[in-house]
Amino acid sequence: MRNGIEILQSSLLFPYSEVCHGFSTRTGGVSKGKFKSLNLGLTDGDLKNNIEKNHRRFCRELGFLPDKLVQLVQVHSNNVAVVTEPGIIPQTDALVTDVEDIFLSIKTADCAPLILFDSVRKVVGAIHAGWKGIVQNIISETINVMKRVYKTRSDHVLTVIGPAIHDCCYEVKSEVAGKFDVSEIIERNGKLYLNSVLAIKNRLIKSGLLLDNIHDIALCTSCNANKFFSYRRDRGQTGRLMTVIGLQRDEI
Ligand SMILES: [Zn+2]
Repeated sequence: MRNGIEILQSSLLFPYSEVCHGFSTRTGGVSKGKFKSLNLGLTDGDLKNNIEKNHRRFCRELGFLPDKLVQLVQVHSNNVAVVTEPGIIPQTDALVTDVEDIFLSIKTADCAPLILFDSVRKVVGAIHAGWKGIVQNIISETINVMKRVYKTRSDHVLTVIGPAIHDCCYEVKSEVAGKFDVSEIIERNGKLYLNSVLAIKNRLIKSGLLLDNIHDIALCTSCNANKFFSYRRDRGQTGRLMTVIGLQRDEI
């Protein structure tokens, strides 16, 4: 941790110095009140100035400038974009690239952020995986795009599942529960809870990924109020976490 900013990383990706990645936490920023403090979203109510400052701080910790980010206007779809330059992509929930020096980003506050790395073809991906995206097959769609565009082999893909709301807190209605396998739903005191991490793992495995190549950060956004924003816990009045993955330019 430097400057109060704590970024979570996965040991699964440590052997690959070409990969820059990180999951933000809420500490080390300048936003106040319910957005305290490292709000990296564009949510109503926070000051644009503060959000821009937070972006600069977070990106500086990861070693690049905010204008190298690829950002999404996320809509809980199964739309995947192949990108070659920074910018803002509308109506999309997953990104892939093999271009160096651009940084794919996902914004979340309970939905699971996923990052992917094809360690052979040197391709990175990022997925916004809420329940709607999961049931619309955003995960297999993204892996299929990697296969089609970059000749990725799924057994070469490493995936990290970032902080997300877990089955301790993720209560769902029966209509939602019915869209998932019974093994992915837990019943407690007459209420239904979604084990979204298991739902994600099951779909990654179905797409051909190896279990050893999947790492779950294993932290619940709703349970850890000091560390994370949580849409559910904070009843919609909250900031956004950011997840980033990119290929760093080779040092000369
Ligand atoms: Zn929880």
